[in-house]
Amino acid sequence: MQQLLKDAERIKSLEIQGATNVALNAIDFLSNYSKRLKCPDIESCIDNLYKAREILMDTRPTEPAMKNGLTFLMSKLEKEKKNCCLEWQSDSKAFYAWYNNQLEKQSYRCFYCHLEGDTFKHYGKYFRFGRRGKRLEVDRIESKEPYSPGNCVLACYPCNNAKSDVFTYSDFIEIGETINKLKMQ
Ligand SMILES: [Zn+2]
Repeated sequence: MQQLLKDAERIKSLEIQGATNVALNAIDFLSNYSKRLKCPDIESCIDNLYKAREILMDTRPTEPAMKNGLTFLMSKLEKEKKNCCLEWQSDSKAFYAWYNNQLEKQSYRCFYCHLEGDTFKHYGKYFRFGRRGKRLEVDRIESKEPYSPGNCVLACYPCNNAKSDVFTYSDFIEIGETINKLKMQ
């Protein structure tokens, strides 16, 4: 929190000026703060972020761009939260335990195409975007249902990306087998 107060002071003291600059910096400050947070669950994380947002907004109460930017960020987070089951919301360790267990269950391979989570071997430089394409991702079997241990499998980035909300789980089991045949030739 100390670093955030220092950051907020930079806006308050007019060191950072201009509506756009203030808004962009405030968004950076809030997201950096979130990276430093160590919370036992998503609920307390979001609580802390709301407090941080208040501190930042108080630096320039009449700055609508900053207010809108920070509100947008928080609404995205709230949406993520709704997508996550209560068990994983209240205990982030439960999620990591599930992930590691599932990795072993799937022999470290995508549920659909049975290829490795690291896409480099079969796709080269394609499917390497930021942090994606390096490890298996969590895919919802029923994409309208929340993330939960019973509704998730691990899928590679290409499969997760292609399945999105367009193909059903059983569609993608078939598609995955075809991908596997083509890539293993
Ligand atoms: Zn796959």
